[in-house]
Amino acid sequence: MSSKYAFQIEKLKTMYETPWALAAPAFRVFGNLYFVGNRDGASWLLDASGGPILFDTNYPTADALLIHSIWSLGFDPCKIQAIFHTHGHFDHFGATALIKGLSGATTYLSAADAAMLTERPELSCIPDSRNAYLTPLIPDIEVRDGDTFSFGGVTVSAKACPGHTPGAMSWFFPVTDGEHTYRAGLHGGAGLNTLCRDYREQHQVDWREDFLRSIDRMLEEPVDIFLGNHTGQNDALRKYERMKAGEGNPFLDPAAWPIFLESLREKYNQMIRDEEAGTDQI
Ligand SMILES: [Zn+2]
Repeated sequence: MSSKYAFQIEKLKTMYETPWALAAPAFRVFGNLYFVGNRDGASWLLDASGGPILFDTNYPTADALLIHSIWSLGFDPCKIQAIFHTHGHFDHFGATALIKGLSGATTYLSAADAAMLTERPELSCIPDSRNAYLTPLIPDIEVRDGDTFSFGGVTVSAKACPGHTPGAMSWFFPVTDGEHTYRAGLHGGAGLNTLCRDYREQHQVDWREDFLRSIDRMLEEPVDIFLGNHTGQNDALRKYERMKAGEGNPFLDPAAWPIFLESLREKYNQMIRDEEAGTDQI
């Protein structure tokens, strides 16, 4: 018996045995923002002066998919200038060492998750991942709540979103197409796997209050283009299909961010109800 909210290694089987089956089309979301992720993990590319900026690099076994996606959009992975990470789990920094090796990109991770990876590397989920060769990320820049980073005309803002990990960080930045500029928001970490009873007891951590507070803090942010760090969170591939079918641009939707945050609260409440009723065990 284990919690249905816990990390499910079986779910990662495809990623390790047939990662190519997760290939997804790379595409322009809006203006200078692109999707370069796979069917499970999201990576986003923002074109900026000085070279593209990446947000999350995904699973280590999917590194070839990421490189292919970047090339297929006409960008050069050797010219990536910065890599921002939403949090310190291996499925968000898996290809960072590779991209940094190609491009020399500066890497960014919250100070809290950098400390987590140094002091408690087992919380990176690497031991669960069968990727013994992968080592925890040591970022060039340790980010704190409220930090901003400018690249030519683009400023990327950090807002702490602790809960899923102690240093989950949401990122906000303008996306521009000609005269039109919208505000994108990338959520720092939504999974309940680190908040469920099994994980808390196994690792002796408790980030539940942080998680609930972060939902309220994120609701303060106006977001025109909601981005997730897993592809299903903002239904990215289905939105792409709708866009191709001529249904306008479904990524431009100021309601999507608050709807997602409220759905997180409801999922969390359901987990608590399940744990109290004992129906969390499978
Ligand atoms: Zn995670």
